[in-house]
Amino acid sequence: MSVIAKTPVSITDTASAVATGQLSARSVVDECLERIAKQDDRIGAFNLVLADRAREQSENIDDAVIRGETVGRLAGVPIALKDNLCTRGIATTCSSRILEGWLPPYDATVVKRLQDEDAIIIGKTNLDEFAMGSSTENSAFGPTRNPHDISRVPGGSSGGSTAAVSAGFALGALGSDTGGSVRQPAALCGVVGLKPTYGRVSRYGLIAFASSLDQIGPIALNVADAAALFEVIAGHDPLDSTSISHPLQTMEKFLEKGVSGLRVGVLSELTGSSVFYENNHKDVFASADIADDTVQHAVQGIASDVATKVDQAVRTLKAAGATLMPVSVPSATLGLSAYYLIAPAEASSNLARYDGVHFGSRVDGNNSSEMNTATRTAGFGVEVKRRIMLGTYALSAGYYEAFYEKALRVRTLMLQEFAKAYEDVDLLISPTAPTTAFELGSKTFDPMLMYMSDVCTIPANLTGHPAISVPFGSGDDGLPIGIQLMGPALSEPLLFQAAAVLEQAADSQAVADRTGKTAWPG
Ligand code: GLN
Repeated sequence: MSVIAKTPVSITDTASAVATGQLSARSVVDECLERIAKQDDRIGAFNLVLADRAREQSENIDDAVIRGETVGRLAGVPIALKDNLCTRGIATTCSSRILEGWLPPYDATVVKRLQDEDAIIIGKTNLDEFAMGSSTENSAFGPTRNPHDISRVPGGSSGGSTAAVSAGFALGALGSDTGGSVRQPAALCGVVGLKPTYGRVSRYGLIAFASSLDQIGPIALNVADAAALFEVIAGHDPLDSTSISHPLQTMEKFLEKGVSGLRVGVLSELTGSSVFYENNHKDVFASADIADDTVQHAVQGIASDVATKVDQAVRTLKAAGATLMPVSVPSATLGLSAYYLIAPAEASSNLARYDGVHFGSRVDGNNSSEMNTATRTAGFGVEVKRRIMLGTYALSAGYYEAFYEKALRVRTLMLQEFAKAYEDVDLLISPTAPTTAFELGSKTFDPMLMYMSDVCTIPANLTGHPAISVPFGSGDDGLPIGIQLMGPALSEPLLFQAAAVLEQAADSQAVADRTGKTAWPG
């Protein structure tokens, strides 16, 4: 059963129609609320729907337009927020029991920026508890389901946000991406998701999971909308000391630019399914044969329908004028291992603050230590406890050097190898996720299997580089497939530029499919 939005509407069109009085913000909000009321009991995208508040805000915007006032760039656009973004006076749970009853005393900077542009926060979306997971099944409030097929997961951890956009419950959403949590669920739900350069978007008010990896990213139905949201949320923030002050360009001009002359590398280690290389690319690649051992050492488990799509994406970029070449970054295969030491290590420290004293729920005990243990035992779910234990172990005396420090060295190696790769290419391409959306419950029994979902997305978090997932047709099961484009620090304009080319090709193919023709080049 599919619940995807039938009439995709764009953020930019909606905002300009609202600003000129052709469309009432109230009607946009009502339409989303109606869809949510009808369908979210099957999807479970929202932890909280802010219906009254959204209606009131939309009326204020409509009144301002009638008075002839200038309204913001996102006037009347309903946006869903992952429930780990602080909203002043509005429950923010991280889908955890431990934060039950907590009301943040401030707004996250991204929330403030959205509201300053007259966006309407329509609700808070479900996630894997504290953003730890790849399927949104680790939520204390029950799973979210994929709008394309409700027997499948939406991906995670921002599965509530990507499902909300894909189902038409909101025109856009924000998620957080620590190891792939914006891009992987975007791929599985057939929407666009960007992880910006580390520091490009303020983390102030994002509840920390692994602070050196976390970034907030936009989720939207199309590339132009993702770019419009990115422009609003990005930029320097004195409240986040890791925020970058580098000036921000407007994205619009890049969307039409095409890829002529761009050099795009196919990241061999993440694309190394035999299907991809059996398909001889001598006709596509400008230079360099792929060394056999690169293919041998490539990550396992990239499904053949996904590899086929990467092949089509590569051919699409080539036909659009890009120069393609295979690129090897050997340490990319070590990303998953390094991530599962670094992220839990940071998480074990970040989550120490949930002690029953400062935030949320408390279970009493005979003394503070017992209270602390009882609160954390009752308040955290299984996966969060697993991460805290992994992280505490990796940081403990004697193991610190063997595990945590080694992982940091791998991270440095990856940075060096990616920097070298970007001397030869402008962008890298790979799948976003190894497979299409999987069945609910099919990976929950095996954490390692679940962790594998992020094998392609994690490298960009470890290096801090930006990466985007763009929908590119569907797999053998008819479910969406996403292509990942990665670039060096601050290359978001280039990512949008190339993603727009893939999006256009995928749209033409969708039209061609309906008429029985093929649009793929090569
Ligand atoms: N799925 C990864 C994890 O479980 C990434 C999560 C994220 O990006 N927040 O840690």
